[in-house]
Order: sequence, then C-alpha cells, then structure tokens
Amino acid sequence: MPAAVVMAVESLVAQTAIPLVDIKSVDPTIVIELRYAGANNLAGRALYPPGTPALVRPEVASRLVTAQAFLRRYQYQLKIWDAYRPKFVQTQLRQAAHNNDYVADPRAGAGSLHSWGVAVDATLIDAWNRPVLMPTDFDNFTPAAMWHYQGAEQAIRSHVHLLQIAMRDAGFYGLRTEWWHFTIADWQKYLPPEEAKRAVQVFERAGKANL
Ligand SMILES: [Zn+2]
Repeated sequence: MPAAVVMAVESLVAQTAIPLVDIKSVDPTIVIELRYAGANNLAGRALYPPGTPALVRPEVASRLVTAQAFLRRYQYQLKIWDAYRPKFVQTQLRQAAHNNDYVADPRAGAGSLHSWGVAVDATLIDAWNRPVLMPTDFDNFTPAAMWHYQGAEQAIRSHVHLLQIAMRDAGFYGLRTEWWHFTIADWQKYLPPEEAKRAVQVFERAGKANL
C-alpha cells in the first residue's frame, strides 16, 4: 500500500476511539466495494480517501464471517457497500442527499450507527463474483428499497430473503426502509450510554425491521 494511502487510512482510524478492524483481514473472501470510495454514489464523487478499507468493530467482523460462511454453502456471498463511516463523511452525505430523512443527521442523537462501526451495508453476489438481481441499487430512497420486498420478481424475493436470513442468523437486524442496511443486534453495548439512549429513539423511529 502506498505511504500516502496508509497515512490517510491511519488518520481515519485515529479519529475514533472505536476499535476497528479491516473486514478483508478477518475474512479475505468477503467482497468489498465501498461505494463512497468512488463516484458511483448519491454524492457523485469519492467521499473516502483512496485505499480506504472497510472497517468495523471486531464483533461485527466475526458475525460477517458467519454470514459469509452460510451464504457460500448456497453458492452466494456477501459484498460490502459500506462499513465504518466517519462523521465528516456522514455530514457530506447528508448535504448530498439534501437533508433527506433517510440519511442520519450526524449532529442529532448518536448520528449514524455506521459512525460507531456497528452497521454495514451489504448486498448479495454469486460465488463467481457476479451481481444477482436485488430490489434496488444502493442508496435508493424509494418504496422499492423497503426491507420487505413488495415486487413480483421471484428471483429478487429469494435473493433478498437469503441475504436477510444469513444476516439475521449471524446476529444482525435490518432497517424498514433499506434492504441493504444491517446493524448488530446488541449494538447498544458499544455506544456510550447517553449516545445509546438517543440512538434508540432515532432507530425506533426509523423502523427496526424484523423477519
Ligand atoms: Zn447503512
């Protein structure tokens, strides 16, 4: 890794007291495509420094290993679209989304749970790294992105269901409005108590999804 990239990544990690690990170093088979590291996102430009790894708390990484192992039995696998998201990126995202309610305000409550390293955005791909039909693309803030797929396409229904089962059994739960978003079930343990209390209110409002 070039020195400049290492420095950028180290400064990203140093901004937080949260213990974070690189998902790739825990499970090299998990495919990483951080959408905010390129221009293919709602901001239309890269929000992460080049070479940014997908970081999460170690407890999240080990659950992703479990989900990945489950999916590989069915010849599918995980692709991570986003993981730890620094607050400065959350601020830029919120601006890019024109303060859309779907993008948490980093100044309100505990902000986004991505900024605590306890949430990931993930989709399903096949064992040969090919995309499969899913309800929508990433960061699609329309009813088509709801956790409970409402469409008529059987392949999409089974893909999203498989992803959700894999993540649920590994210890995550979902968000009513975003099929790709997963938070570890005991996330409150990893936030300071005051922040956790505020985040619970935001999270309950946003709609925790159950399977
Ligand atoms: Zn998310």
